[in-house]
Amino acid sequence: MHTVVDISDIHRTYHTGGSPVHAVRGVSLRIPRGDFVAVMGASGSGKSTLMNILGCLDRPDAGTYLLDGEDVSGLGRDERAAIRNEKLGFVFQGFNLLARTSARDNVELPLLYSRRSVSRREARARAEHALHTVGLADRADHFPNQLSGGQQQRVAIARALVTGPELILADEPTGNLDTRTSIEIMSLFQSLNDAGATIAMVTHELDIAAYTRRTVVMRDGRIVGDSPVATRLDAAVELARHADEERQAALSA
Ligand code: ADP
Ligand code: MG
Repeated sequence: MHTVVDISDIHRTYHTGGSPVHAVRGVSLRIPRGDFVAVMGASGSGKSTLMNILGCLDRPDAGTYLLDGEDVSGLGRDERAAIRNEKLGFVFQGFNLLARTSARDNVELPLLYSRRSVSRREARARAEHALHTVGLADRADHFPNQLSGGQQQRVAIARALVTGPELILADEPTGNLDTRTSIEIMSLFQSLNDAGATIAMVTHELDIAAYTRRTVVMRDGRIVGDSPVATRLDAAVELARHADEERQAALSA
């Protein structure tokens, strides 16, 4: 099977303060295409440092990183920016949408920064297709402040998808959302994954990790657990159950 991520024995030490901080100390990880990985672990265990390296925002001090078969461990800033645009899609806890910009224009943005030039017309068509994929075709002209948190996160997911990335990276994508909306977002990730998308996401919550296929646990800069999710939850089923419970509660009130 095609391997999207293949990192071996990577290290990353920060030298910003007094004594060096060994944030990642010898991590190896392979992510095959079509996988859906939850990265878990206590605060300070190195999750964000690992995600920054996977996302080519930062590079390891030692070790190798093959992304989609290409060695990206030694690339400079500009080359990493190009790789990010071509191969990666990012989803953040705080959505990170441009405020005075419509959903459509937010989603178009990565295409306008792309090295492969895309006409304005094609960018628009692709943005609208991505919004359709996340169920927001009818909100293309809305600004972020006219959308709920869950809708804003779906716009951000459309923006991550629009370039057709090899890997989607999400750092606590449900961290700002209530339970029901979180399950809706996990339902969207599950359908993208079922359609072939490869996803790695950081989460603190076990019940969110239960919607993925695999859990990787970090501690003190190392991977201390890596196992398939034994009883994977189906977000669509959980949403239906949620709705039933609310109807029952309304009836008995
Ligand atoms: P997590 O995301 O699991 O909370 P991080 O990767 O953010 O963990 O942090 C791992 C360790 O590296 C922590 O001890 C943190 O304080 C330290 N760290 C993270 N980023 C920096 C930085 N830019 N400069 C110095 N230390 C950092
Ligand atoms: Mg973090």
